[in-house]
Amino acid sequence: MATIGILAVQGAFREHADVLRSLGSDCFEIRNARDLGRPMDGLVLPGGESTVQGKLITDLGMGDALRSMIRDGLPVFGTCAGMILLAERIDDGHVAHLATMPIAVRRNAYGRQLGSFSATGSFGPLDGVPLEFIRAPVIESVGDGVHVLTEHGGHTVAARYGNQLVTSFHPELTGDTRVHRYFLDMVSGRRTAAGN
Ligand code: GLN
Repeated sequence: MATIGILAVQGAFREHADVLRSLGSDCFEIRNARDLGRPMDGLVLPGGESTVQGKLITDLGMGDALRSMIRDGLPVFGTCAGMILLAERIDDGHVAHLATMPIAVRRNAYGRQLGSFSATGSFGPLDGVPLEFIRAPVIESVGDGVHVLTEHGGHTVAARYGNQLVTSFHPELTGDTRVHRYFLDMVSGRRTAAGN
C-alpha cells in the first residue's frame, strides 16, 4: 500500500485524503517540518491560497526539505494553489515558491469573483474527465520535458514533468477518481523502480 503525505497547512487537504484512501492508499497530514521526516511514497499539495501556503511553508521551515524531496524524484501532485507552489515562474510578480517545475503560471486567470465553473475535458488518454475550476490559475508556458495533459479554452490546465503532476482544476471534488489513480500509478512506478 502506498503512503501519501498531504500538505495540510491550509486549503482542501481532507478531500484529497478521502479520495486517496478510497483507492487504498494510506495518508497522513503534513503540518510541520517534523512530519516531513515520515516515510512517504508520494506527496500532495492541495488547492487553497498559494500566497498563504507559500508563507507558511517558509515560516514553518519546510521549503528546503520539500524542494529536495521533489528534486530527488518523490512523486508530487499539485492542484490549483499546489500547482502555483511548484511553478518556476508566477506572472503577477510573486516570487516563486518551491519552483521545481519549469512552467509559468498566471494566477486567478479566470477572474477573482466569477472564476469558478465546471467543464469536461480530456486528461492525457482519459476522456470525459470533469474539470472543476475555483479561482484557478492557468499554465502560460512550459519548459523542455513538460507534457501537456489537458487543454481547456485555449489554456493548458494540466501537465506532467517527470514525477511532478499539476492540475489547475480540482479532481478531488468531482467523484471521478481517475486523475488520482493516474497519480498513484506514478507513485507505484517509482516504488517499482526503487525496488520497494
Ligand atoms: N487563486 C488561488 C491562488 O492563487 C488558487 C485557488 C485554488 O487553489 N482553488 O492561490
